[in-house]
Amino acid sequence: MKNEKEYNKELFIVEAVIGVAATILMLFVVFAAALLMNIQTTVSVALIVVSIVSYIIICLGLTKMEQIVGYYECTKCHNKQKPSYSSVLWSMHFGRTRYLNCSKCHKKTWQKKVI
Ligand SMILES: [Zn+2]
Repeated sequence: MKNEKEYNKELFIVEAVIGVAATILMLFVVFAAALLMNIQTTVSVALIVVSIVSYIIICLGLTKMEQIVGYYECTKCHNKQKPSYSSVLWSMHFGRTRYLNCSKCHKKTWQKKVI
């Protein structure tokens, strides 16, 4: 049995690998569909739409994964919290650090992901 921290670290690695692979695949399909001359325009547009919609769905799933794995730590009071999916989805972020409302001190701060 692995402890929760090791399990969460592995989930973050899986999330990153899926995210990078999905981004590369989506960009490849979009550029191939846009640049290939010997396919019809409707096929090209359909490929681009399907790949972008699939990419958005994958990103929403990865955001859910990020929300449920580990905690966000408030920089003011060091409270660890699990915010709702919508607040994680709609918050500004860089990497896994998100601008969230703290459930304890009620201040909006840049909260780091901790596992
Ligand atoms: Zn706080």
